[in-house]
Amino acid sequence: MQEIAYHRPGSLAEALELKQRLGEQARFLAGGTDVMVQAHQKKLGCQAIISLRGLKELRGVRLQGDTLLLGAATTLSQVLADPFISQHLPVLSDAARVMGSTQMRNVATVGGNVMSAAPSGDTLCPLLCLEAVCHLASPEGTRQVAMSEMFLGPRQSAARSGEVLTHLAITLPTAGGRASAGAFLKLSRRAALDLALINLAVQLWLSPDGGSIAKARVAAGVVGPTPLRLAEAEQALTGAAPTADALARAAQSLGNSCNIRDSHRCAAWYREEMLRVLCQRAGARALQRLGIAVEVAA
Ligand SMILES: Cc1cc2nc3c(=O)[nH]c(=O)nc-3n(C[C@H](O)[C@H](O)[C@H](O)COP(=O)(O)OP(=O)(O)OC[C@H]3O[C@@H](n4cnc5c(N)ncnc54)[C@H](O)[C@@H]3O)c2cc1C
Repeated sequence: MQEIAYHRPGSLAEALELKQRLGEQARFLAGGTDVMVQAHQKKLGCQAIISLRGLKELRGVRLQGDTLLLGAATTLSQVLADPFISQHLPVLSDAARVMGSTQMRNVATVGGNVMSAAPSGDTLCPLLCLEAVCHLASPEGTRQVAMSEMFLGPRQSAARSGEVLTHLAITLPTAGGRASAGAFLKLSRRAALDLALINLAVQLWLSPDGGSIAKARVAAGVVGPTPLRLAEAEQALTGAAPTADALARAAQSLGNSCNIRDSHRCAAWYREEMLRVLCQRAGARALQRLGIAVEVAA
């Protein structure tokens, strides 16, 4: 059996220095729910693990003005239990609720979900819709990457080797008293412990008089090599009255922005159909959270 050295640095600086010294033979570990699966499958391809678990720099959720700073090592259970997140960012709570199982959510982190960069990662579409910014640290300093720039391909993020994701910065959609709400839905074969066949998030902002949708963000996962913003749906919703008709038009516009393929888990035609259904249902749930009752046919 291959031996893997386990390092548990006490600070971010120490973790970065260790990674710089050990190079490609070392991998970071947060909750370990992806890393340990790869270790069991003998696909880890490294001789050392650098645990980020003890790093207080990566923990916690705090508010800085109108911006929520979400520590990368925040677990999905902590996201789910946070009353501020459920009130202001319900789209993120929705995703945390349907990820894995209770045991898994107790250790799996938001940062690990982002850095795994799986097309099915459940927090990724909500974070795309919330226009989150990833804060990365390396021995050279810090830099920021917008979520929309973060995914280059399946399991390939824009983070450079040796960079640690410290936190995500999210400007509150409700900043300045704006009426905004979102919702996330996931389709999978089982209700728990299953990756998404398709997932989709919507975030809507109403005009000051509430008569139209001033801004819309729609993103879907497993419809392409990376989670994608769906520009057609966003355009169809922007400026429209907040009604079931607008949601139906947005759903009908879908299809051009993604390149859905057959896979061993699901046929392309089914994913495409369900993309339209989830778009309408998630849009309706977001509107309901804004106090607008709509009934969608799908
Ligand atoms: C049984 C089971 C069920 C699952 N169900 C779901 C599901 O429903 N939805 C879903 O989206 N995923 C699911 N997953 C996948 C996984 O749990 C998630 O992707 C989880 O969020 C990973 O977080 P983690 O902290 O465990 O990451 P880890 O396994 O610790 O790390 C994942 C990757 O990110 C890197 N990394 C982690 N943190 C950082 C950081 N701060 N900076 C730099 N690099 C970092 C690691 O080096 C590694 O490459 C499931 C996994 C299992 C085993």
